[in-house]
Amino acid sequence: MAKSRVIYWFRTDLRLHDSPALKAALDLDPEVLWPIFTWDPHYVYRARGGLNRWQFLLDCQNDLSTSITKLNSKSKLFLLREAPQTVFPKIFKAWGVTHLVFEKDTDAYPLERDAIVKAAAKDAGVKVITCSGRTLWDSDAIVAKNNGKPTMSTTQLQSAGKKLGAIDRPIPAPSSLPDPGEMPLDFEHEQPTSKPDANSERRTKKDTEYRSIAGPKGDFSIETMEELGFPSATTPHKGGETRALKLLDDIAKDKKYTATFEKPKTSPAQFEPQSTTLLSPFLHFGALSVREFYWRVQDIVDKYGKGASMPPASLTGQLFFRDMYFAAQAAIGPKFTQTLGNDHCRFIPWHLPSKVDEETGLSTGEYRVDSPEAEQWFQRWKVGMTGFPWIDALMRQLRHDGWIHHLGRHSVACFLTRGGCYVDWERGAEVFEEYLLDHEPACNAGNWQWLSCTAFFSQYFRMYSPVSFPQKWDKNGDFVRRWVPELKDLSAKYIYEPWKAPLLDQKQAGVRVTGDGLSGDKDKTYPKPMFDFSKRREVCLAAMKTAYEANLLGNDERVADGSWANL
Ligand code: FAD
Repeated sequence: MAKSRVIYWFRTDLRLHDSPALKAALDLDPEVLWPIFTWDPHYVYRARGGLNRWQFLLDCQNDLSTSITKLNSKSKLFLLREAPQTVFPKIFKAWGVTHLVFEKDTDAYPLERDAIVKAAAKDAGVKVITCSGRTLWDSDAIVAKNNGKPTMSTTQLQSAGKKLGAIDRPIPAPSSLPDPGEMPLDFEHEQPTSKPDANSERRTKKDTEYRSIAGPKGDFSIETMEELGFPSATTPHKGGETRALKLLDDIAKDKKYTATFEKPKTSPAQFEPQSTTLLSPFLHFGALSVREFYWRVQDIVDKYGKGASMPPASLTGQLFFRDMYFAAQAAIGPKFTQTLGNDHCRFIPWHLPSKVDEETGLSTGEYRVDSPEAEQWFQRWKVGMTGFPWIDALMRQLRHDGWIHHLGRHSVACFLTRGGCYVDWERGAEVFEEYLLDHEPACNAGNWQWLSCTAFFSQYFRMYSPVSFPQKWDKNGDFVRRWVPELKDLSAKYIYEPWKAPLLDQKQAGVRVTGDGLSGDKDKTYPKPMFDFSKRREVCLAAMKTAYEANLLGNDERVADGSWANL
């Protein structure tokens, strides 16, 4: 029987350890295996991906490529610079491919893209193998065991998971890899000739196209940020499977931390090192397998005995939240990330709601700006100039580092939505989409719904004060001093409420609390708070109460025609 010629398409799984899809590819005993990554214009031009996430992706790709080469000196991660929908039909034929293997992805755009690629493979007689590997359990299988419904709590996830059986143990990384095959790009076997003829112009153009697929050096290599024409990233966090496994090893060495971890007790103000694992960006790019993480922790918990923490607060409990959001999205579909058309998301008459494409019913990324004041609040929140130092420190850390602690995310998300500005959660989610290293469509939307009390959580009367909440964790305000240097010399008494500092204290600290922060001398001034938080708290509470009483769950008509009362 002819041996298999396999393309292994890396996407959400930039690793060699515990990859069910890679194992399936190697089980074919291929004659040749091409490990490839395609530059997808969707992510380059349409999705909001900040520079930090790009850098993290390049780190993961470089590390993976080095690991592949260690297993086969002729191989590496080959980068193809063209949309998968158009490049695959060409290379299937030109490279004599028999199989295409990849990890299953249940996000909205990949589902659409993969359907096109699968159809092209069918036309070309190429067999497609996909395996679930991104979550603890296959998200679609969880939905089936949850009676076709989205998982709206970790208890629902766990009981559906139980019906599927124990979480799979991780698969070891392969110890060798097959050679890659030839990678001709002259798809129709048309070589440019030195002799000019009627077709020469067309051939030359085509030749340029071929070469652009292989990148400027023509060798399918990974470019640097500079070569891609991007400015440098600012994040101190580095990506890659090697680093992820080392970080997990270090965490697992501290058995007490691992076994007794309780999320609500970890400090959002702790930095260098942070109080939680900071493994989320590695999970996002698949540089760390979620089952590897789960079993390393669970094995420690099993041996630890008395005093070990339990889900949902424990470390394994955190991974259940991740799976819960993935399965909720798998059940609801593309509209999971918006209010309109999402029956599980409560309608709240926010300021600045999103506009929706009439044909697809999906958010367009544009907003109704019928409240200029709220628009200014949003802009100040985004740049970390609200005049509330706790919120500003977090937003500045987010923009600079690409990561903030979970309770920090709680604080800023609550503040933007139901606990301050009353701005649409979808708008905040877009800012997170741009800046987070770990941006995961399902987890981001799901957590924003949780914090805005539109789904998953409904105790809207529980709010985060930007003053008393951080005081509980960080009396001296060291976290604020790190991220809002204008206030670094202000006394602890005023660090969370600088507007209350007498002029003399401001002078001694070398700062003036004045203006809106969007203009003026940013080194020596810090803005006044953009509103009176206690007053806004009351307004938001009353509005949420009214919205809840109206029970506007998935009320599409009112969202669509905009007939809401603004605050
Ligand atoms: P740890 O506390 O060490 O937890 C271990 C792992 O569990 C994390 O790496 C993560 O994969 C998972 N996890 C923990 N908490 C959650 C949670 N609430 N939801 C889903 N997974 C969780 N997480 C993302 O991975 N991507 C996102 O886009 C994202 N957006 C968020 C938006 C908002 C408004 C909020 C409040 C939370 C968001 N989270 C998101 C969840 C959570 O804040 C991060 O997963 C966590 O802070 C990552 O840090 P860590 O790795 O140190 O977490």
